[in-house]
Amino acid sequence: MDTKILLPESEIPRQWYNVVADLPHPPAPPLGPDGNPVGPEALSPLFPMDLILQEVSSQQFIDIPDEVRDIYRLWRPTPLYRAHRLEKALGTDAHIYYKYEGASPAGSHKANTAVAQAYYNKKSGISRLATETGAGQWGSALALACALFELELQVYMVRVSYDQKPYRRSLMESWGAHVASSPSTLTGAGRSVREHDPDSAGSLGIAISEAVEDAASRADTHYSLGSVLNHVLLHQTVIGQEAQKQMAMAGEYPDVVIASCGGGSNFAGIAFPFLRDKLGGRRVRLLAVEPTACPTLTKGRYMYDYGDTAGMTPLLKMYTLGHNFVPPGIHAGGLRYHGDAPLVCQLYDEGLVEARAYPQKPVFEAALLFARSEGILPAPESAHAIRAAIDEATSGAARVILFNLSGHGHFDLSAYDQYLRGELVDYEYPSALVESALAELTSHHFGPRSS
Ligand SMILES: *Cc1c(COP(=O)(O)O)cnc(C)c1O
Repeated sequence: MDTKILLPESEIPRQWYNVVADLPHPPAPPLGPDGNPVGPEALSPLFPMDLILQEVSSQQFIDIPDEVRDIYRLWRPTPLYRAHRLEKALGTDAHIYYKYEGASPAGSHKANTAVAQAYYNKKSGISRLATETGAGQWGSALALACALFELELQVYMVRVSYDQKPYRRSLMESWGAHVASSPSTLTGAGRSVREHDPDSAGSLGIAISEAVEDAASRADTHYSLGSVLNHVLLHQTVIGQEAQKQMAMAGEYPDVVIASCGGGSNFAGIAFPFLRDKLGGRRVRLLAVEPTACPTLTKGRYMYDYGDTAGMTPLLKMYTLGHNFVPPGIHAGGLRYHGDAPLVCQLYDEGLVEARAYPQKPVFEAALLFARSEGILPAPESAHAIRAAIDEATSGAARVILFNLSGHGHFDLSAYDQYLRGELVDYEYPSALVESALAELTSHHFGPRSS
């Protein structure tokens, strides 16, 4: 039985899979401030037309441009591993497989969409991008992509991560990006938060407001988002398509496919190609895993809300903790977003995908067991999926398990340090924070509310 299942370069997917084509119900459209659906043209100050067309497309497969596929060849196809040593450590009969997206130069799955977005922006004549980053993973991925396509990049990095992860900033700057701690003084949105809360730890919602404002106010600049939007989820489906071929090479099919869920693109990337099988009648469970400190799917409300704190984005129908929700400063910074991808939320609402939340400590415990048996030190975000995979295996809930190891943890050593010193604390569901953020939302009259 092989430990590492490799595909040849020729098996890098030639198309992205668009789940919209196969949904049981059409997706709820984004709404403008007047409560009416926004057309593609409303997005044109922020995104190139190729990406806008992907955002609204219902075509089942979309060709990957040769220029993008050429760069994918630097690290794709990524390996699929059978976790023999972890299985042994657990004493389980379950078969555990993981797809390793930490193989990209930026260290996570986020490079898959960063390269595509940089390519389409370059092609449209744009010379500069603005974006936000939480843990620094997305900023790093886009900095890499912008270096490869010779674009300028301004990154607004959530302050708690900027302070906790100085080496992520060094990595972005090494690839040529400019990095500001958010809330910053560079934008009106940042200045206004600092006025009200000088000690603000920042949040993805605030950093998005800053990046959107930056892009909207300059003709040479577009905005780029690392998760949540349909086109981002689309680009990530190279993961699941490769994994399907690799599982077939192993002669198995997963009972459950697991991934951590921040904005949802990582989960969608591995799960959506399998969801297509499921809609075709195959039995497979799809499990999204989130932190209890930011429990969007498991404790959020399904309604229209803004994607950012300042309310500059269109309203998206999603499970949300409220766009003013500032989650506790946990170490899985990539999972600290108040909402989730509308496509993932719709599928969760329809019962086609499952969700589960874990506190930090059991997640780090799983991370160390994994590092000590499989060798790879996982990103804290990815360790949420490991925790769930272990629990699925040891409870007997699943026999063949596939999870996405979305990134390595080489820039998260201060978090590991804290855990090893016994200083890491668990934030259970911060119900008071969520309630107050949601209370502000109910004063909006947008959209129907279910659950
Ligand atoms: C960003 C990130 C995630 C979460 O990704 P989403 O697509 O936003 O859900 C998971 N793992 C790692 C390593 C990340 O960097």
